[in-house]
Amino acid sequence: MPVRTRFAPSPTGRLHLGHVLAARTAHALAREAEGIFLLRHEDIDGPRVRVEFYRDIEGDLKWLGLQWDEEPLRQTTRNAAYEEALATLQKQGLVYPCFCTRREIQEEWARMGAAPQGDQTPVYPGTCRNLTTSERDEKLASGAAHAWRLDSRKSIERTGPIAFHDIRFGEIFVNSDLLGDAVLSRKDIGPAYHLAVVVDDAFQEITHVTRGDDLLLSTHVHRQLQVLLGLPEPIYLHHRLMSDEAGKRLSKRHNSLSVATLRAAGLGPHEVLAQTNQAFDWRD
Ligand code: GLU
Repeated sequence: MPVRTRFAPSPTGRLHLGHVLAARTAHALAREAEGIFLLRHEDIDGPRVRVEFYRDIEGDLKWLGLQWDEEPLRQTTRNAAYEEALATLQKQGLVYPCFCTRREIQEEWARMGAAPQGDQTPVYPGTCRNLTTSERDEKLASGAAHAWRLDSRKSIERTGPIAFHDIRFGEIFVNSDLLGDAVLSRKDIGPAYHLAVVVDDAFQEITHVTRGDDLLLSTHVHRQLQVLLGLPEPIYLHHRLMSDEAGKRLSKRHNSLSVATLRAAGLGPHEVLAQTNQAFDWRD
């Protein structure tokens, strides 16, 4: 099977060095195997998406020499496929509606003595998983806004023990407790990241999913969804993250390290790519 990889940015900002590393990794893996490198705009994040960023992202990638091979895919054109996947999980009783507000979840954590620590938030306390059928039906009938969460325990019972293979980390067994009952469809935008990414990786026949190791925990959910939805299993590569001189992770807030800024400062494409060299080699 030919290698197919993808770079999947959200058009919610300009590309920064972290994106350059992600794009370069996916591109290199495809090119080394004479495979296909794809671009997917993960643009379902409603109000944060801005139309000029599609063009900017494509412009920056071309300038860097990271040319993709097929028409870029936009997730906003794919909602019907995500809804269908959600309906499949609903039919199997593996998802449940969650009516909690963010505030209610935080209050529940406080009651449990589970406070968020830095970037790490405790998992969803399961409030709506424990609703009775009549409580649930009543809320649904009243039109209350709700998300849909994966019932992680039922899900792992259904799949049995499963694992995924990562080029850097080797075999990793899925632990369904790590992310708890992940949101698959949001109150505000409908089908969301975890579901969309899995459906689209299968649709685009991605053989190697490459992304930063900050998303390693998400893959535990993705692997479950692949099994539950009968989708093929890709190989993973969770690459290192770019960090600044103080060792802090780069994010979109670091405007000074956007490709646009580095370009404007007179750097050429090779110099910008070279700034990701340290984190680029995943083989060691
Ligand atoms: N849209 C995600 C991001 O920008 C990509 C995640 C993935 O590659 O699965 O972080």
